[in-house]
Amino acid sequence: MDPHPRLREHHLFERMGRILLYNVATMVFYEVTPAVRAVVVALGNQRSYSLGDRIRRRTSRRETRDALEYLRREHFLACDGESVTPPPQQPRRGVRHLELMVTHACNMRCRYCYGAHGEPGFDTAPHLYGATSSGMTMETARRGVDFLFDASGRCRDLGLVFFGGEPLVARRLIEQVVPYVRAKEAATGKKVSMSLSTNGSLLDREVVDFLVRNRIGCQVSIDGPKSLQDTNRPLRGGLASYESVVPRVRELLRARPGAVPARATLAHGAIDVPAVVEHLLSLGFGSVQVEPCIGEPAETAVTAADVDRVLEQQEQLAAALVANVRRGRRLPYTNLVRLVRQTRVVRQRLTHYCGAARSYIALSQDGAFYPCHRFVGMPEYRMGDLDSGLDGALQRRIVDLTVDRRPGCRDCWARYLCGGGCWKHAVDAHGSLETPDTERSCRILRHALECAMAVNAELAVSDADVLSQPSSRPEPRAASAGARL
Ligand code: SF4
Ligand code: SF4
Repeated sequence: MDPHPRLREHHLFERMGRILLYNVATMVFYEVTPAVRAVVVALGNQRSYSLGDRIRRRTSRRETRDALEYLRREHFLACDGESVTPPPQQPRRGVRHLELMVTHACNMRCRYCYGAHGEPGFDTAPHLYGATSSGMTMETARRGVDFLFDASGRCRDLGLVFFGGEPLVARRLIEQVVPYVRAKEAATGKKVSMSLSTNGSLLDREVVDFLVRNRIGCQVSIDGPKSLQDTNRPLRGGLASYESVVPRVRELLRARPGAVPARATLAHGAIDVPAVVEHLLSLGFGSVQVEPCIGEPAETAVTAADVDRVLEQQEQLAAALVANVRRGRRLPYTNLVRLVRQTRVVRQRLTHYCGAARSYIALSQDGAFYPCHRFVGMPEYRMGDLDSGLDGALQRRIVDLTVDRRPGCRDCWARYLCGGGCWKHAVDAHGSLETPDTERSCRILRHALECAMAVNAELAVSDADVLSQPSSRPEPRAASAGARL
């Protein structure tokens, strides 16, 4: 046996009472014994006394020999001259998804809206709502759709998202765009999956019928219990929104039982993830995703103390997920379930977190391209427009910033599962794409990955069905079995 074995890149941690060891290159995790942990710690310890001494202090000779053999068998030990880090992955590009910013108008005044900071200044805020016109014209939308079909080349499965402001403010425009898209599908043989993200306040029977008839996916932004929703997501003029939004959302939930995803935002000082998840599932949403508020406005952005609470609650939800699955019930808390599924089977290494600027582009009301909706109106992230075409400089910069090359990510154990985090979170935290939001987004994501691996260590392979997410597509599905926290 090599007298000086070197460990390949790994992450050793304890979560939910289990000792887990993750191999960065193979993306496989293992539940290990205290003896294996002791050997891994000793191998990583660079202090001067000999390896034999280091290991023998914690484990018997036999345990040490078995642990080393185990680590060698599972590819944790590097041979002489071999690199301990895996070779870099090649990124992919090619536009396949377009976000149409159909309007910047909105009938709500969410406290954390990144487009404006509340009522004063709402119409002149520098980011999303800084676009030069309030509503997209059909001509701009039509040219955007043409761009998507042309830019996607031979790719046949495309995506189109209606975004805002509140996209249903521009309902008449959407009603014109949809038949135009379907006609292009028929002419080209391509398929477009359409969706929109709404605050729910303008849903009614007619809108829901339109969404169902046209197979348009719909995610609702809603913050959960009445007190949170009313505080953080008031209507224009400061009126409470829960009582008017929920009956309208129920129209959609009735039409698509168990298949409508909810997205909630966590704002500073109001961190109660279990309550949000439980409440939204009790309303009939098919899944719940929560996202922390990062960046402006500073008074709603989550702090380090808020993140501590999120981690604690995330672990409670992980334990609840295990308990639910053992009783044959789903707990579709998307943040965790997605990662449980991702760490269950070995997948391709991620080079980026999302497709922004590579496969995914936003088109603003005034016909300009941006990496995604959150960058719209920021001049330094503009990527050309419909007249001049897509400017590839920012796209190349983002394509080059793979997790293997990006400072801050290239030494992170979670990089191939994470992909580098949201670009906008990085810009909000440090003003640049190059440095991730380490203090908030990274802490939450790495902790969620640890929880996901611990959940998998608790569950059986046959639990895959119970872990599946409901479809966010429009086809009605059977109601979910319900979840209890
Ligand atoms: S964004 Fe954070 S968690 Fe993700 S790979 Fe980079 S450093 Fe790691
Ligand atoms: S950059 Fe962030 S907000 Fe934009 S698409 Fe990616 S994850 Fe979403």
